[in-house]
Amino acid sequence: MSRSLAIFGATGTIGDNALDLVDQHQDRFDVQVLSAQNNSDKLAQLAQKYNPEILVIGTQEGREALVQNLADFKGTIVVGEAGLLEAARHKVDVAVMAIVGFAGLAPAMTCAAQGGVLALANKEALVAAGPLLMQTAQQNHTQVLPVDSEHNAIYQLLQTQAQNPGHESAHKSIEKIVLTASGGPFRQHSLAEMAKVTPAQAVAHPNWDMGAKISVDSATLMNKGLELIEARYLFDIEPARLDVLVHPQSIVHGLVYFNDGSVLAQKGCPDMRVPLAYCMAYPERIASGAPRLDLAAQGRLDFEAADRDRFICLALAEAAMRADGDAPCVLNAANEIAVAAFLDGRLGFTAIGEVVDAVLQAHEVARVSGLDEVMAADLAARVGAEQQVKKLS
Ligand code: MG
Repeated sequence: MSRSLAIFGATGTIGDNALDLVDQHQDRFDVQVLSAQNNSDKLAQLAQKYNPEILVIGTQEGREALVQNLADFKGTIVVGEAGLLEAARHKVDVAVMAIVGFAGLAPAMTCAAQGGVLALANKEALVAAGPLLMQTAQQNHTQVLPVDSEHNAIYQLLQTQAQNPGHESAHKSIEKIVLTASGGPFRQHSLAEMAKVTPAQAVAHPNWDMGAKISVDSATLMNKGLELIEARYLFDIEPARLDVLVHPQSIVHGLVYFNDGSVLAQKGCPDMRVPLAYCMAYPERIASGAPRLDLAAQGRLDFEAADRDRFICLALAEAAMRADGDAPCVLNAANEIAVAAFLDGRLGFTAIGEVVDAVLQAHEVARVSGLDEVMAADLAARVGAEQQVKKLS
């Protein structure tokens, strides 16, 4: 029996990797939903190849382009946010949520209510509304599996614990969860050097091939900060037991420290097909096509502490994680605005953290009990961040 599959954000890097796995295991997966925001040409090509039941495109113009390109298409084409939610309600065995940014939150919440597996690549959904998302998934028997390589590593490491009887005490035996960070392209830059960094330099990540937004987040270490918050909600672990370790080779993706002194680490060549294959075939393991880790050839693995004085975004994210409530949502929103301004050339690289800091400082942390409150906090933070961008640029 093949597994039905939805890929939200199908034309991005995660989409490419997920579809590469589909190509390697054609009898295993049946692609039923594909979505793209803007790239209607690529979506049309994918539709011809995979013949899904539902296509989602961001705009009406995009829809017209699809209709012109796909004269024989028998499925449904839906548009915009409403179309995305409609497609997210289509029941599939595995929904890969790879929409970038806050825009992925509402469709992720909808997927979490459908049962099956939610293979979550979007981190903002957990950051902005982690408790809500996990609660929705639990109530609807949806298994949330992390695509993010570090969380996928931790998930794998915790499996032996989860299979033990008395899961509660197993959870207590975890002393610390550590996510590794490559340190990004400016790991050894001084603050003065970082202030002059251009968008092109920030987007060139040493180990991972990713979209522009996530590459900038990796360069500021905000990505690792967001990942800590992600882990906090995904694994239901308190902030004091979460940490970051800089590891430039990106071979070790995550570590779990147990109370008996044992430390488990998950390793592998940096290739997104590894965590994707794990999520898409769970609980089976399937070939991913990733290169094999050759530790003798690798020779050495380096580790160093993260420098929170140079990478203030990491410290800001940790503070937001401790503050809880809507603080992570506000952090994320301010960061999205600041990164967009940086990519547009309206803001300096080090000013990204300054914008986020100013917005967080002006914000009074409130509890979050529903998606409406998350949306409101997000919007207010975006307005505040735009004002800060204008002040600083
Ligand atoms: Mg990651």
